[in-house]
Formats: sequence, C-alpha cells, structure tokens
Amino acid sequence: MSADEDPNAENPNAENPIDWEPATKLIRGGIERTRYGETSEPIFLTQSFVYQTAEAADARFAGSEPGFVYTRYGNPTTLAFEERLALLDGAEYCRSFASGMAAIHMAIMGLVKAGDHIVAGKALFGSCRWILSHWAPRFGVETTLVDAPDLDQWRAAMRPNTRCVLIETPANPLLELTDIAAVSEMAHAVGAKVVVDNVFATPLFQQPLRLGADVVAYSATKHIDGGGRVLGGALLGSKALLEDAFRDLIRHTGPALSPFNAWVLLKGLESLDLRVRRQAETATALADLIAEHPKTKRAFYPFRADHAQYELARRQMSGGGTVVAFDLGGRAEAFNFLNALRIVDISNNLGDAKSMATHPATTTHRSMTEEQRLEVGVTEGCVRLSVGLEGARDLARDIGRALDAA
Ligand SMILES: *Cc1c(COP(=O)(O)O)cnc(C)c1O
Repeated sequence: MSADEDPNAENPNAENPIDWEPATKLIRGGIERTRYGETSEPIFLTQSFVYQTAEAADARFAGSEPGFVYTRYGNPTTLAFEERLALLDGAEYCRSFASGMAAIHMAIMGLVKAGDHIVAGKALFGSCRWILSHWAPRFGVETTLVDAPDLDQWRAAMRPNTRCVLIETPANPLLELTDIAAVSEMAHAVGAKVVVDNVFATPLFQQPLRLGADVVAYSATKHIDGGGRVLGGALLGSKALLEDAFRDLIRHTGPALSPFNAWVLLKGLESLDLRVRRQAETATALADLIAEHPKTKRAFYPFRADHAQYELARRQMSGGGTVVAFDLGGRAEAFNFLNALRIVDISNNLGDAKSMATHPATTTHRSMTEEQRLEVGVTEGCVRLSVGLEGARDLARDIGRALDAA
C-alpha cells in the first residue's frame, strides 16, 4: 500500500479535535482506520499480538517501540474508546476497565497504602461505600465519611496522611452535591488526590478535571452504553498520575475492558450527546410534574430552584442530569407508585434509553443499616427515577397516573 492510500495519513488542513463541539468529539474522536478504510470502528477481538522479529518483540516489551503486547495491558479497540472519552472530558489520558467498580476500586486502592487515610461523602454508590468500610481497612487504610454539602466537615476531616478524597456528585440516590472546586483545594493542601465519580452528571454536564479534580471515574455501563448492554468503566486524568498510580496495577491485576465491550461503548458514545440532552430535557419536565403533585412530599432535581444546592448546581454543572428522586412518604406509597407504572420499568439500573424506577431502601441501599440510610436521607418513601428516551408525553402520563395511585 502506498503512503497516499494510508487512511490515517496526516491532513495538513485537519482541524484540532480539542476545539470541536462535544457531539463531534463523540463521533470523530479516537478513530484510527485499518488499511481497508472501513467506515465503522473495527473490533480487535484478539488476546495477543505478533512480532516480525525477536528484536521487535524485545523492543516492544522494553517499551522502546510503540505497540500492543497483550490485551490485559491494552488493545486497539479499548484504546479508541479511551481516546474518544479523553477528548470529550478534556483529559490528557484515559484507562478503561471491565466495570465502573473495577475503575473506582483501582482509583482508590492505587492511591493509598497502609497508614493512609481517605475522605468521602456519606452518600455514595453502595459498592464504593463497601470498599471504604469493608475492604480498605483490611490494608490498614482508614476512611472518614462526611455530609457532602457541608464544607466545614470536609475541611475538618482532612489529615496530613489523607491521600485520597472520593466525591460523588450528584450522589446516588438523592442527588446531593459536593463543591468540587472547594473540596479539591482542601485536599490538595494536605497532598491528597481527588477522585470524582461523575456517573450521574455525565461528561456532558460536568467536567471535574476543569474544576480541580485529579481523576474522573465513570461507570460506562450507564449513559455511555445507554442501551443496557455491557459493563464498562474508565478513569481519566493526567498521564503522569494515571501511569504512575495505576499502570502496573492494571497490568498485573487484570481489570481490563473486553475489546468487544469497548466497541459497544464506542458506538454508545456516538449518540451520548443526543441521548443525554434529550433525557435531561424530559427529566426537567418530569421533575416539575412530580414536585407539583399532591402525593409528593419532596422532589430532588439539581436544576430545580428548590434543590438545597441549586446555586452550586448552576455553578458546576451545565445540565441537571437524567435522574429525578422523590419522597412519597412511606414504603406503601412508594410500592403503589412502582406497581402502577405501565411504561417505566421497575429496575435498579440508570442511564438507559428505557426509563426505570427503583425503591432504593429495599434494593440498591438495602445493605446499609436503617440508621445509615436515614443519615443520607434514603427514607422508605424514596423513589429514584432514571429518565429514558421514550416520548415525554407518554412518560408524563405514566408517572402522573402512578403518582395518583400512590
Ligand atoms: C453504577 C455505578 C457505579 C458502578 O458501576 P458498574 O459499572 O456497575 O460497576 C459506580 N458509581 C455510580 C454512581 C454508579 O451509578
């Protein structure tokens, strides 16, 4: 093949992808075509790679020649997914993982050693909380949990040996916010790194690295897939930090994303902008409908003026997200609501094209004690609604009818 047929040949008139709109980055980012010039991204479903000579293998393993050696270390399809997500998030570097929890586990455990300390908000995704309360202590790592909206508690919790600060904002399930810029400043003052679980906001509505965070974590299982198909996760940040803290750990402990799943997620990214903006638009309308219904005790949506941290939401997010939470008073009312739904599914997942409602106290948050649940506001009447892509009028009718039945 001659050079002028190379589908990746440099175009001297090419634009800088960093200047593109998110929708363009999501479709054009990370593409490296093979010599066949295929339109869609190829799937490299291969475990390993071959070398022309023994010297080439030597150089590849030494790292003096670029290239892949084994998919546990990296793969062209997972790399394409990483590059596209990094472009969107404005990150220098991205590593992909088999699930969101594989990514967050790596982010936490890669930053600490015995004798170190972690600070995190109390309202956390259940498995993140389990890592901090059950797993990290086995390695001599202590955690202080704080009320995320209270900056004084974050400040008081920082210690000289704090090495990792974990922020989930908006937090599951009641969409409590943490001021990323303010907490990052406090963390950096004691030499700690800040990890932000950005699942609920999505990379479209919140860019934590720009606000001072060091690492952004995603469960790609949610909005990035968007169709409820595969698990995936990612960490983004500076190349120096991600290589230093995680490179060897990833290579030797094996949380690698499958190239097939990376391909599904690449295709998910293509429509992320369109889907998430539409889902958020519908969520905004449904949040109003839910908040104004007489059966609702309280509604939670970051871009509603009655959210306790509305001003912060407007400052650090550019959209309210796709999840609405509300309190119907008690378990019977919440169950009546769920059982009266005819379009929306009862499911613990979120970020899907299909709208889903869940009762956190008996599902996602059942491993917490009642006291722990109440500490983060998860009462028996709480319902979490993940708004999908169905028609807004159909969803409004379904939710309105189910609220009437509550
Ligand atoms: C789903 C989720 C995770 C875990 O991701 P998996 O892909 O299920 O492992 C972590 N944090 C948040 C906020 C989530 O919603």
